[in-house]
Amino acid sequence: MRKKLIAGNWKMNLDWNEAMTIFTDIIRLNGETNDHCDVVVIPPAPYLRYFFETTADLNSNIQVGAQDCSAQSSGAYTGEVAASMIHSVGAAYVLVGHSERREYHRESSDILSEKVERALEHGLIPIFCCGEKLDDRDNGNHTFVVDNQLDGTIFELSEDQFKQVVIAYEPVWAIGTGRTASPDQAQDMHSFIRGLVQSKYGESVASGTRILYGGSMKPANAVELLSQPDVDGGLIGGASLDPTQFLEIIKAAK
Ligand code: PEP
Repeated sequence: MRKKLIAGNWKMNLDWNEAMTIFTDIIRLNGETNDHCDVVVIPPAPYLRYFFETTADLNSNIQVGAQDCSAQSSGAYTGEVAASMIHSVGAAYVLVGHSERREYHRESSDILSEKVERALEHGLIPIFCCGEKLDDRDNGNHTFVVDNQLDGTIFELSEDQFKQVVIAYEPVWAIGTGRTASPDQAQDMHSFIRGLVQSKYGESVASGTRILYGGSMKPANAVELLSQPDVDGGLIGGASLDPTQFLEIIKAAK
C-alpha cells in the first residue's frame, strides 16, 4: 500500500514574515490530522533551514524540500545550490524538472539526469516532474511526450536508485491555469506511467512507486483526483499558499 504524499510548491512567493506565518499555520492545522499521508512544504531556498528547525521545535512531521538543485556537486557555479547543501540544512526532498525550470531555464533531459544523480548521491528524494503541453494533449501526443521525458532521465537509473524517486505528473496546461485534468485523464496517464515503470523495473517496483498529480489541484477537485487508484498524492502550487486550502487537500488524501 503506497502512503500518499502531498507536497506544496511555494515557488518564488512570500516574504520571510508571510512565509513563517503561513508555515506555522500549516503545522498547527496539520497537527489536527492523523498522519495519514506524508506532507512536504517546498519553500524558496533561503527559508529551508528555518523551516526545518521550526518543524523540529514544534514537533511536526512535515518535511521540507527544495525547488531545484544544481547539476554540479560544488565549485565555481555562481548562484547555484548544491544537493549536498540542501541536504545539510535538513531538507528531505527536491523537485527536479518542474515545467517552469524546463521552460525558463531550458533544462534538458541531460541536465535533469545530472540533477537526479546529485540528489540521490546526497540522500535527497527527487520529485521528478513530467507532463505534456497543451499542443501535445490536443494532438494526442501526451503519452509519447511523457514516455520520452522519463526515458531519457529517471529510466536510466539503477533499480535501487529508481526506488528512491517520486514522480509528479503535471500537465503543463493545468499548472496555475485553474484548468485541471479530469480524474479520468489523470488516472489514464498515471496508469500509463506505472505501466512504463513496470516494463522497465518490474511489478514490485511499479507497485511501490509514488506518482503524484499536479495542476490546479484545489479542495474542490482533490477528493476525486486523489481517489483514483494510481494517483498517490498531489504536487500543489497556488493552493499550498493558503493553509486552509492546503489542509483540505491533505485531508482529501485519506
Ligand atoms: C505546480 O506548480 O507544480 C502546480 C501544480 O501549480 P498549481 O497547483 O498552482 O497549478
